[in-house]
Parts: sequence; C-alpha cells; structure tokens
Amino acid sequence: MSTPKPIKKNNNQPQRPGPRSPHSSQAKTTTKPNPVPDTGDKPYGLVPLSTKVHREHPAKQNRDAGQDRFRDDLISGKLYITLTAQTSTFVASGVVAMGRDVNFKVDLVKTAVHQRNTLIIPGSSLKGVIRSAYEALTRSCLCKTKANLKKTPDYIECKIDARKKKFDVCPACRVFGAMGWQGLVSFQDSKGQVISNNVEFMPSLYGPKPENPMYENSGKVAGRKFYYHGVKAVTSKKTPDGKNKKGIDAQKAQQGYIFKTVIQFKNLTEAELGTLFVILGQDDAHKIALKVGGGKPIGMGSLVAAVDALEKPGSPRDRYTRYTLPESDRPTGEALRNYMQAAIAKAHQDLIQKQQLEELARILAWPTQRTAPEDMY
Ligand SMILES: [Zn+2]
Repeated sequence: MSTPKPIKKNNNQPQRPGPRSPHSSQAKTTTKPNPVPDTGDKPYGLVPLSTKVHREHPAKQNRDAGQDRFRDDLISGKLYITLTAQTSTFVASGVVAMGRDVNFKVDLVKTAVHQRNTLIIPGSSLKGVIRSAYEALTRSCLCKTKANLKKTPDYIECKIDARKKKFDVCPACRVFGAMGWQGLVSFQDSKGQVISNNVEFMPSLYGPKPENPMYENSGKVAGRKFYYHGVKAVTSKKTPDGKNKKGIDAQKAQQGYIFKTVIQFKNLTEAELGTLFVILGQDDAHKIALKVGGGKPIGMGSLVAAVDALEKPGSPRDRYTRYTLPESDRPTGEALRNYMQAAIAKAHQDLIQKQQLEELARILAWPTQRTAPEDMY
C-alpha cells in the first residue's frame, strides 16, 4: 500500500451558504452547508452537495425567444481549446486488437478511440467531464446518477414536462441539456495533433468492491465523486511485493500529447461562460486540470486546458455574413485574458458556490504532488 498524502479536511474554512445571486429568490436560504465528507486514503474526494437545487425556466427572463434564436442580451460563440496530457490518457474504443494488426509489438492491445492512430477524445466524453464539474459548482441536480435519491429528492434529475407545465431546470441542465431541453453548449471531438504509437501497460482496476462511497450512514448522498490527480500514471507490471499485476497493454496518449477542440455555445450569461472558464482551469486562484477517460484511480487522464481564442460575434448579422470578425469579437492574448477574468468574477458573484469550488479545486488541483496508489485501494 502506498501512502497517499493525508487528506486535509476543510474544517477550518468558513462554512457558509454560497454567494447570494441577484436572479435567485432562493439565494437567501440559511440552510447549513453540507459537511465535506472525509474519504481517508481513497484516490478520490467527494464534493458536498449544494444546500439546495435552484431551478428556473431555462429561457430565463425572455421566454418567448425560441431556443434556436441568438439573443442579443446573452453571449453566443465558440471557444478554441487546447488540451495537453499531463499523465498518460486513455479513452477506450471498446476494441481489443491483436498487436500486429495495429502495428504494435505486443500480443493484445486495448485500443483507444482514434483515426488512423491519431487519438480522439469524443465530444461526449469531454462534455460529461465538464458537466460533472459544472453540476458540482452550482446549485444543480444529480444528473445521470445511479445513486438512490429517495432521501434527497431535491436532487433528482430535472425533466421538462410541458403537459404538467413543469419547465424549471437547474443551472447545469440549462447549459448542458435535460429531458425536453437541448442545452446551450456543444462539444466537438478533441483531435490529437500527431499520430501516437504509444502502448503502455494498464493494470486492471479491480479490488474488493467498496461500499458505495456516495452514501453516508443515513443513506443520504454524501457528495459528488472526483478522482485526485497524480504526478504520474501507474504503469508498473509488478506489485510493490513483487507479484505480477493483472492488466493489458493499452494505446495511450503520452504525457505532452496535444488535443485540440472547439466548444460552441449560445445564449449563455457572462456568469455561465465564466463558470466554464473556471472549469477549464482559467481561474488563477483555483488552478485545476481535467480528468478524462480510463484509469482515473491510478493517475491517468490528467489534462490541462488552454483557451486559445474566443469568438463572440457582436451582431447577429456578423454571425452569418462575415468571414473575419472585428478584433473586439475575437479576443486573443491579453484581451482574451481580461475578458475571461471579468466573466470569472461574475461567475463567482452569481453562480458558483464557494464551498463547493474550494473543495473541487482542492481535489482537482494542478500541479499536484500526490502519487497515485500503486496497489489496491
Ligand atoms: Zn438539473
């Protein structure tokens, strides 16, 4: 058993409800914040749930404007993103191939999603990762969870039901979609910039099935699970006491491998865009990396994001007629940095829950000194 760094409990942090948001009538809640669960030496932490889910009509104030229309009072555009692997990263294609069939010098290889050995992170994978963080940071429901929410019914996934005149959804469902609402962001596949012939051993992730970590003793959901980053992925074939590990060779993106992608968004508030910037690691006070794909408990899949450019055509006409945008609508460099910092400040003010951000930023902190556990956990 390796000795992971002791987990700092946040008992000394001020425990108070999140910032009051001007558009939220529920923001005055005085409910005590949920405690930060202690996950001991597990390779993950739990971000406590926000005290209450905030739901409102996803079209916000202007309900007559259809979802398809671009609105002048909100922001639409594209984010150009670079993702750089900090530890080996693997998004499984589901196919195990004979090594010689895919030009690898091993017998069997678990292949990654790729196009002619240029690695791909499917848009849906990255969207899922960013959505989970967005849910954790805002007063959102627990979407796509297998957890039993009988004791915490407030967190049941949002669902629009026009017949029952139920339209309200949480902040994450408004941005990423819910049943009956398409969502406002779309993710293209992240494409590797070079061919990768890297094959590395990937130990099997098995072990005694732990009790479901999301629950506390009362049967309530204790928090949202996020894996810690590690300085390096575990690739050794032997356990610390010299036994052979089970596992298979896998087609991994090496440390330093670069992916590029585009995130398209429409009708976001500045605070919503700012929250995306925070999750993409652009908040200097909360430096984080994303965790994508397989092998999360053993230090794999740490990706640092950079926002290379932002396009936000000011007028709807420009959106359709101009090939090159005026500079103010396509900030890069210092102008982009300033734009992002303003949006992030707005996110802190209106949308992000302070306690949840501190905890998520602690778990996803990058760079890290943690070492991923070599052995069973
Ligand atoms: Zn929701």
